[in-house]
Amino acid sequence: MPIPRRSWAEPFKIKVVEPVRLTAPGQRLAAIREAGYNTFLLRSEDVYIDLLTDSGTSAMSDRQWAGMMLGDEAYAGSRNFYRLEAAVQRLYGYRYLIPTHQGRGAEHIISRILIKPGDVIAGNMYFTTTRLHQELAGGRFEDVVIPEAHDPASEHPFKGNVDLEKLEALIARHGAARMPYVSIAATVNMAGGQPISLENLRAVRKLTARHGIRVILDATRVAENAYFIQQREAGQQGRSIAEIVKETCSLTDGCTMSAKKDALANIGGFLALNDETVFEEARNLVVVYEGLHTYGGMAGRDMEAVAIGLEESVEDSHIRARVGQVLYLGEKLRAWGIPIVLPIGGHGVFLDARAFLPHLPQEQYPAQALAAALYLDSGVRAMERGTVSAGRNQDTGEENRPKLELVRLAIPRRVYTQAHMDVVAESVFCVHEERQRVPGLKMVYEPRYLRFFQARFEPLA
Ligand SMILES: *Cc1c(COP(=O)(O)O)cnc(C)c1O
Repeated sequence: MPIPRRSWAEPFKIKVVEPVRLTAPGQRLAAIREAGYNTFLLRSEDVYIDLLTDSGTSAMSDRQWAGMMLGDEAYAGSRNFYRLEAAVQRLYGYRYLIPTHQGRGAEHIISRILIKPGDVIAGNMYFTTTRLHQELAGGRFEDVVIPEAHDPASEHPFKGNVDLEKLEALIARHGAARMPYVSIAATVNMAGGQPISLENLRAVRKLTARHGIRVILDATRVAENAYFIQQREAGQQGRSIAEIVKETCSLTDGCTMSAKKDALANIGGFLALNDETVFEEARNLVVVYEGLHTYGGMAGRDMEAVAIGLEESVEDSHIRARVGQVLYLGEKLRAWGIPIVLPIGGHGVFLDARAFLPHLPQEQYPAQALAAALYLDSGVRAMERGTVSAGRNQDTGEENRPKLELVRLAIPRRVYTQAHMDVVAESVFCVHEERQRVPGLKMVYEPRYLRFFQARFEPLA
């Protein structure tokens, strides 16, 4: 008998295991009520398969754990800082490194330095913490992602691309002096983990350079972005992930990084820069908000884990299996006719809640309702990426109504097996079968900042 196909497998074997527990339906109902129908407020003990986020949830390698023992917990000048600095210089190519406790620490610092009140920051779709720091610094975010990014069904291979005409029109309207930098995410989390192409980034670079505008990269998932470039972009097939990552960074002036995602660490982040003046200012500010410039809120052992994780994150075999697992789950759901964002992204599968629950109007938070329903079915925890996450308009106070009303099944790196993915897919299938019975929600508590983390809801009817 011929073998129908040759499978790939994870490039690791499992050395340590952590038990997970399947709870009873009654327990789940009590838990989600207690959590105000917000999966962020569940206790992880009550969760079976946790796809809330891929942030800080990776399994570290034996090398990373060994590295933790080499933590040099000096207040100043820890050797792990120099290891991390060298790794960033070698793999990303930036000159200067500012460590921060996580990505938002870096966003805070760069926003404070570069943004003046009234400035406009263009970007390929907003990210929650990134935009908030830009706004708190007095800036206003303008979305310049291509329109396909807002259409869950569009199969454009690079839905993270910048609409160059839109960007050019924005520069013409506000003037380059009001636009300190363009904010480029690779991949675009809020669009479903969608990549930006090298060709598009080169064009952004050319356009902004003409006007003297900087480009700051959100490098949180730059290795996953590189994988899509390698797979989809003309002329890139023969190149390694490491080469593509380095070229991506070379087209920008600096990056903010959450080391909790691609870099396979449980905590950490950094700001990396090429401009010495901006670096000097950042090195000064980090002391105020994060910690001394050679630790920035991280322990020495954390910096070591990030340095090693960065190296592992650009290995071709790692990234192929990582994105491969996401594709496995996505393809399964797609084959069953479940509405998901296409193409399948790099860090998770995004359910299209509007198509999934067409009986719920957007005011009833369909994505929030779907995430709660999925938890009730199986104990699988996902996250809302829709109206609740989009928050309110800065000027009018009205709720933003994003075109994308999504539930994100984010896959932690190196944590779950293919059997876990099967259980998740089957639970989504069952909720889909019973979708008419999923009730809408009303918000009964709304925090002022980043409301999705702590908002509370009650089911309607
Ligand atoms: C997680 C994330 C951040 C913020 O990083 P934290 O480490 O959570 O502070 C910024 N941008 C993107 C795209 C992210 O996914």
